[in-house]
Amino acid sequence: MTRYCSFCGTKIREDGVFCEGCGREIKSEKETKKEIEQKFREELKQEIKEELEKEQRIKEEKLKKVRKKSDRSQPLTWKVTKRDLIYIAIILFALFLFLVIVMPYIIPH
Ligand SMILES: [Zn+2]
Repeated sequence: MTRYCSFCGTKIREDGVFCEGCGREIKSEKETKKEIEQKFREELKQEIKEELEKEQRIKEEKLKKVRKKSDRSQPLTWKVTKRDLIYIAIILFALFLFLVIVMPYIIPH
């Protein structure tokens, strides 16, 4: 199999360890693949990180805008979020369970 230097493209002898063109060490195909994969992964990580940071920035800007708006129009209203609704539902369910399970024992027949 013919190999070529990954740096300068010079043809390399099968048993060659160093490139005749640029003198760099020739790595086996496996090692090169590993390096490319590593590089690719790092680039991907960097890209994801940048993307996340961008999203974070956009979110923060939106939040700031929303805050400014709500500050002006209705400063003291408590906004019910989905999370609050879930809490309320859990509390109501617990009360219901309490009534169904405990009340028959409390009320005399
Ligand atoms: Zn070379």
